[in-house]
Amino acid sequence: KHVTAIVLAAGKGNRMHSDIPKQYMDMQGYPVIYYALKAFEESKVDDIILVTGAEDVAFCTKDIVQKYHFTKVKDVVPGGAERYLSVLEGLKKAQNADYVLIHDGARPMIGTEDIEKSMQMVEQEKACVLATPVKDTIKVVTKGYVTDTPDRDTLWAMQTPQSFSTELLRNAYIQLETKQKKEKIVPNITDDAMIVEYMTGHKIRIIPGNYANIKITTPDDFYTMRALLDAQENAQIYID
Ligand code: C5P
Repeated sequence: KHVTAIVLAAGKGNRMHSDIPKQYMDMQGYPVIYYALKAFEESKVDDIILVTGAEDVAFCTKDIVQKYHFTKVKDVVPGGAERYLSVLEGLKKAQNADYVLIHDGARPMIGTEDIEKSMQMVEQEKACVLATPVKDTIKVVTKGYVTDTPDRDTLWAMQTPQSFSTELLRNAYIQLETKQKKEKIVPNITDDAMIVEYMTGHKIRIIPGNYANIKITTPDDFYTMRALLDAQENAQIYID
């Protein structure tokens, strides 16, 4: 079975308040996106499609893919205005894939073990997502006031990779397009599982993940990433 990773790096990172998108910022001598690409390069996936901003395709090809010898990256393609549209651009290039693993380039701490778990689970379930139980109490807030408190025991925070049978995901996208044309609504789609849930009703299997698989979103996340990298390095020294 052919497995393709679609690594997303076409976001503008508005919450970072920086001119350089977060995925290209330096972290201990490498751009943030390097770490996720390295994990997939070293995993058992067959190939990788990197989705970037249209203006960054040349830079990513030369200064990331070629420079660091990511031989599994077979395409670098421009993304769309929303995350799910960037996924669609990647999906168009994943012609041979039986399964796709969709990963946020802004999640540099993904481990090869969690990638392998996703690959095994998606063969069984056709749709699965790494996730962790939430630690905080989550409330619904409307216009500055709490309007609901869902039971914390039922709440999980979604991570990536989100993994799907390519056929199932393509089908979900086709149905979404039809629905959007008919109803002229653009829902707030923040992950891929949502599209599969709402458009196909196929059940999404949760894979208990790792709290270290953070998404770099706000400036403080860089401190966390640095600490996690240091901890990994020290663990290595300790094992040696
Ligand atoms: O915005 P958010 O933090 O949810 O983005 C998650 C991932 O999706 C990031 O790696 C970002 O680069 C990517 N993205 C994208 N295209 C967009 C928006 C986000 O590839 N239009």
